[in-house]
This record gives sequence, C-alpha cells and structure tokens, in this order.
Amino acid sequence: METLADGVYALTADGDPNVGAVEGEDFLVCIEALATPVAAAAWLRRLREHTDKPVRYLVLSHYHAVRTLGASAFDADVVVAHEQTRRLIAERGTQDWASELARMPRLFAEPDSIPGLTWPTLTFTDQLTINLGGDRGDLVLRWCGRGHTAGDIVAWLPAPRVLFAGDLVESQAALYTGDAFHADWAGETLDRVAALDARALVGGRGAVAHGAEEVRAAVAATRGFLEVMRREVATVHAAGGALAEAFAAAHAALAPRYGAWPIFEHCMPFNVSRLWDELHGVDWPRIWTPERDRETWDLLQG
Ligand SMILES: [Zn+2]
Repeated sequence: METLADGVYALTADGDPNVGAVEGEDFLVCIEALATPVAAAAWLRRLREHTDKPVRYLVLSHYHAVRTLGASAFDADVVVAHEQTRRLIAERGTQDWASELARMPRLFAEPDSIPGLTWPTLTFTDQLTINLGGDRGDLVLRWCGRGHTAGDIVAWLPAPRVLFAGDLVESQAALYTGDAFHADWAGETLDRVAALDARALVGGRGAVAHGAEEVRAAVAATRGFLEVMRREVATVHAAGGALAEAFAAAHAALAPRYGAWPIFEHCMPFNVSRLWDELHGVDWPRIWTPERDRETWDLLQG
C-alpha cells in the first residue's frame, strides 16, 4: 500500500490486479473492485487504517470479472463505468465470470460470496468529472480510445498528476489482450494516456511508476509489447501461416524482454488468438468461455 499524494492510495499486488482509492472532502472514490466481496473486504480493511469516509463512488476501469465482481463489499452509492463496459457486462459478463474463475481461481477468495454480476449505475462515453470537495480538486474519468477492451477508462488527478491507468498500461507485468483492439491501443489510445504526462502511474498490475521517466518507460514497455506482437503475428498471417506459427513467433520475440513478467505464459495464447481474429477482420472480440479457453490453451500452450 502506497500513499501517492494526500489522500491518494494504491495497493499493488505483485502482478495481481491493483486497486486504489482517492479521498474526497467527506467521501471516498474507490478504483477497481477485485474478484470477490471477500477479496475486496480485505483491501477495505487496509484502507480503513487511513480513512473512515464512506464510499460514494466505485470506479470500474473495465468489465473483467477480477476487477468487478467484488463490488458489493464497497456499499458504494454510485458504480461508475464506461457505457461500453455496461454493454460488455450485459453481452458476456456471465461467460467472462466463468472463464476468469477457471483461469485464475487463486484471485477468487470465497467465490460463493459473489452476489451476481456487477452493474454500473452511472455510465459515460468520453469524460466524467468528480469534484472531490473542499480544495481537493477534481478526479477526471476519461475514455482514451479502444484498448485492453472497448471500454477502458483511466482515472486522472490533474493536481498531483497521478494516473490510475487500469489495464491500459502495465508496469513490469505482461499484457492481457484477449479482448483488445491492438492497433487502436498501440496508437492513439496510448498516445492520449501518455499526453496526460503523469508523475505517478498505477497500472492494472505491477509496481507503481514514480516520476515522469518511469511513467514514460511503463507506457513504452506496454506499447513495445503490443508492437512486437502485431509485427510477428501479422508477418505469419501475411505469409499464409497458421495460428500456432504466429503464437510461436510472437512468443519467441517477446520472451527475451517480457517472458519473466507475471502472467506472460498465461496470457499469450489468448492474446495471439484475439490478434489473429483481428487480422481476419473480426472487429468485435469473440466471447471467451471455459471451453474456448481450454481449446485455445491446448492448441497453443498444451
Ligand atoms: Zn482486464
């Protein structure tokens, strides 16, 4: 647990999903909900060592189960997400829950404590500003374009220049791109994230990046991961090769720089499968299910 500025907290988790909180004058904004209410309650107990303000807003950066299904523990007045996140929860929330529980059971502390899907109660498309009250300034929620999913948002504190980037940026952790829009993400979306010129960045996983140089390095590493994968997979696709060849090429090219980062092996089959779909003209990501997960894993990583 780190205090990044007055009333700004981040809990990083050695490659597991990060969470955060921002104090308003008389309320709290919590960022990300973890996988279950039991997991979220453990985070809230740590946060309560610093503040007992009630949670008015729970911000969900995107729809993935490991970041949303613990929401009930916060007892928040408002659950905020992007409009596309609500769409994705409605379209595939149930399948994603089953898929992520089977992929990462370790993150689902007491899965029976989940009351059901988490539904945002407030959505937006471009930007939503939360005034924190007193002289605490604003928390700006912003959609920077399609990236890790169609609906990722970042949470930006302009005064201390602290950015909660969700899974759009990973700092020393591998990228999951199984629901991603690789070209948008590697291009304009990361350009907009970088343009904020943050002085501290909390990514979706991994350590906090402190200072402009570490922030730039985290964004560059994220972009580099995407660009290497795009180059390798596109080369195999253009030559008429098979998905398994594309996987082998992307894996070999990424492993020297990224292979030791958390969840690299776990993510790669899903990443290459999604990118392969995109190269075949599939714009909207296909839905992952436990069955499709197993087929993909057996084909590429088995
Ligand atoms: Zn995610």
